[in-house]
Amino acid sequence: MIKRQFIAGARCPACHALDKVRFCRDGEREWLECVACKQVTENPGEPEHPNAPETVAVSIVRLQEKK
Ligand SMILES: [Zn+2]
Repeated sequence: MIKRQFIAGARCPACHALDKVRFCRDGEREWLECVACKQVTENPGEPEHPNAPETVAVSIVRLQEKK
């Protein structure tokens, strides 16, 4: 079962859409997906794009702290 949660304030690194990025988890696999352009980022803990907005990483940390 895949759990999906939108990340408030996160901006897609591909199309720069705000609040369109979802954090997804299926067991031990975690990734980010953009509902606007379908961009998928695997293993968001180690960003492939060094220029990705810091707000994405910050939001992920906050999500993990909630549980
Ligand atoms: Zn996008």
